[in-house]
Amino acid sequence: MSGPPRRPVRPPSCALVGAGPGDPELLTLKALRLARRATVLLVDDLVSDAVLAAVLRGRTKPPRVVHVGKRGGCRSTPQAFIERLMVKETLAGERVVRLKGGDPFIFGRGGEEAQALRAQGIEVEVVNGITSGLAAATALGVPWTHRQHAQGVMLVTGHAQDGAAGPDWAVLGAAAAQGLTLVIYMGMARLAAVQQGLSTAMRATTPAAVVQHAGLPQERRLLTTLGRLAVDARAAGLGSPAIVVIGDVLQGVAAAHQTGAVGTLFAA
Ligand code: SAH
Repeated sequence: MSGPPRRPVRPPSCALVGAGPGDPELLTLKALRLARRATVLLVDDLVSDAVLAAVLRGRTKPPRVVHVGKRGGCRSTPQAFIERLMVKETLAGERVVRLKGGDPFIFGRGGEEAQALRAQGIEVEVVNGITSGLAAATALGVPWTHRQHAQGVMLVTGHAQDGAAGPDWAVLGAAAAQGLTLVIYMGMARLAAVQQGLSTAMRATTPAAVVQHAGLPQERRLLTTLGRLAVDARAAGLGSPAIVVIGDVLQGVAAAHQTGAVGTLFAA
């Protein structure tokens, strides 16, 4: 008994899409295409309103938008809930897109989400976005690698998993002192400890910078030194979300802003 050829059954799939740092013009074409055809859109609190507006613009049948962040002063949505929702909606036949700030696989738990989906037999499509650490480099006008100053970059989180020990800043500082630019995500809450640890291996005069809201209209930048990092960031009232950068590549910024910008916020 032979019927008509069966169409191969495609496994269910879900997309983890990088929304970049906030400017809709920095979205990839692929990110925009996938997000615009979603029927369910799970949106991070780090995704800018402008990006969301670009994704929803002109849609005759808008997707169901679920904000899974801290917007509106609510507590952050538990990670397990987000993962369950992605699995449930994908298996129910929805086109689910998880729109994440920056790049989905640079911190931000994209790896855990991909694992949870794959464990349920769901295919995961990952679309790169411009990570906020790179947006911070552009905001400061310096590359993380400049062959006169740095042979590489370390992307490090300042936030440890609950109960786990954080990074050993003295060890990282010793490595960075060999010519690596340190780019720290989620570091603002522990800035004093970060500074203290790094200072055991790096000069207090090593240039340091903080970029809050990189790539967004409300972006703020501070240029200082490792020795003054915590005190200057506090005085400037800088907080999350921000990228902290430490390394000699920043000498270029100091040179470009010879107006005594060290220790002060500076404008474009
Ligand atoms: N996947 C994201 C990072 C998520 S972790 C990315 O690739 O950018 C969250 C941390 O990212 C924040 O604590 C902060 O350190 C950083 N971050 C995210 N958006 C930012 C922004 N617009 N400006 C500065 N830092 C940002």
